[in-house]
Amino acid sequence: MNGYAGKILRVNLSTGKISKENTPAEVAKNFVGGRGFGAYFLFKEVPSHADPLGPENKLIVSSGPLSGLLIPGAGKCDFTCKSPLTGGYASSSLGGLFTAEMKFAGIDSIIFEGISPKPVYLFIEDNKIELRDASFLWGKGTITAEKELKEMLGEEFQIAVIGPGGENGVSFASINHDYGRQAGRGGVGTVMGIKKLKAITIRGTNSIPVADLEGYRKAGIALYKSCKEAEGLKFWQSYGTPGVTSWANEVGAFPTLNFSAGSFEGAKTLYGQVMREQIVVTDKGCFGCPSPCGKYSRMKRYDTQVEGPEYETIGMLGSNVGLADIQDVAQANYLCDELGIDTISAGSVIGWAMECFGKGILTLEDTGGIELRFGNVQAVFSLIRQIAAKEGLGDLLSQGVKKASAATGKGSEKFAIHVKGMEQSAYATHNATAMLLAYMTSDVGAHHNRAWAITYDIQVGREKVTPEKVAHVIWLQNFRPMFDVLGACRLQWVELSIERDLYVPALEAITGVHRTWEDLEKVGARIWNLTRLYWARENDGFDRQWDMPAARFYEDPPTTGATAGQITSLDNVNKLLDIYYEQRGWESNGLPMPTTLEQLGLTELVA
Ligand code: SF4
Repeated sequence: MNGYAGKILRVNLSTGKISKENTPAEVAKNFVGGRGFGAYFLFKEVPSHADPLGPENKLIVSSGPLSGLLIPGAGKCDFTCKSPLTGGYASSSLGGLFTAEMKFAGIDSIIFEGISPKPVYLFIEDNKIELRDASFLWGKGTITAEKELKEMLGEEFQIAVIGPGGENGVSFASINHDYGRQAGRGGVGTVMGIKKLKAITIRGTNSIPVADLEGYRKAGIALYKSCKEAEGLKFWQSYGTPGVTSWANEVGAFPTLNFSAGSFEGAKTLYGQVMREQIVVTDKGCFGCPSPCGKYSRMKRYDTQVEGPEYETIGMLGSNVGLADIQDVAQANYLCDELGIDTISAGSVIGWAMECFGKGILTLEDTGGIELRFGNVQAVFSLIRQIAAKEGLGDLLSQGVKKASAATGKGSEKFAIHVKGMEQSAYATHNATAMLLAYMTSDVGAHHNRAWAITYDIQVGREKVTPEKVAHVIWLQNFRPMFDVLGACRLQWVELSIERDLYVPALEAITGVHRTWEDLEKVGARIWNLTRLYWARENDGFDRQWDMPAARFYEDPPTTGATAGQITSLDNVNKLLDIYYEQRGWESNGLPMPTTLEQLGLTELVA
């Protein structure tokens, strides 16, 4: 199987049994790799209604056929499991150098099963694979633990590791790598922690088989050349994702004070340009990346350093909680990274708690004496530590904003900003109906990376509710995640406008299989429908109510900023869903019709 390492590694943490099996050709044909493999193995192997925190849940790590090859950004892998945050499908992408090393070690996917009786780490050096005691690392932060493992094993080992957040069962714990890259969303780190798997360490020295070496060389060069000549390269490389902050604030998409508005008074001091001048010390990229968007920052005030903050973190741990100093935001980022929790969910639950405090729903008694006001930087730092330790108010917040608001009540559910239990990432969607729909229907909950439709809203008219808008969201949902399936970064296409057709000859030369983007979009639709059925299978009574956004976005117009007074209506929200379901070939309750499943070749798998 060209483009694939050819083996799936299965690690049973309960028994300690480690085995290898061939990567199934039929699964590679229908689901390609990465996120596709994750969705397939989750649906097929994890029993219905499995406890996300029990031994039946699995953690599936998958590369794609481009991972580890010289294709721009081909260093992505996907972590999949049943989400402890949402109770549905979790899939989170990780960049850096880990995936390439996994392929060099001869492994396409690792499937972790069971629960280890004691803390362990998985050691892989080509064919030498063993579970080793990790008691000496338990309780340590991700940056500290990664450094210790590298000192012990060698710099050439690539490491994915969890922190105290994952060990303690925080519902939105992350898996960290390369001192700053995360698979952050949906609680993939929580599942790793419950399994008592502290880290995965990999070193590989094999090559990856390629069908047509000369064709691969030519196609790879064409892609790199296109990146090098891209007009947007200088801006992207200088600022990375924080380059979008000023735009988001100006158009009213910048999450502000728990998404009560889309423009932030103190935004200017959070702009990418300011960040570059004040704290960035160097750029950092993933495997094979010609356009490194990672920014490594030093916070003199705190004597710390961090990879970041990215735009999402600036929004969620900056404007959303009222912090307007980039060093403070970067320090909050550092704390989340070291403690191993997702910055987006952390910023959302803290923003929600701050609004509760302002409204008198949470009191000083609930907060342990912390003045939980927007802009209180020490309160943000304290809550991050409390969440990771599940102490004080952090115990409630560590469950995520859906469960925390349900437990708190008093109307706080209305400003708990999530879909399906996943905290909405950093785009305020007041009257931005395409982005709102993208969040509502995202297959993991309200995450932006499946369909980044906010620019389209601004381009065609944010308030419009049209079949064209819905079709655009569906196209993005089928197409964008295919980069996660192939094991490559989508940002060269998004930010540098690299022609997507340039990937077609590369994929063909590597795998020896001809696939057009239309073929790949069909694979994208297959995965989308499979994961939809997964949500329905795991959650009794799953229906369109699960797709509803936070009431704030149809009841509570912002009073300040670029979107002041703007709001969409509940009617429009329902209209968006009606059109979406029709175009997807789903019933009005949001479930795929049998004919849709048949067209996508899913009937047998889901029977
Ligand atoms: Fe990694 Fe950024 Fe390069 Fe993508 S653009 S491969 S995320 S460094």
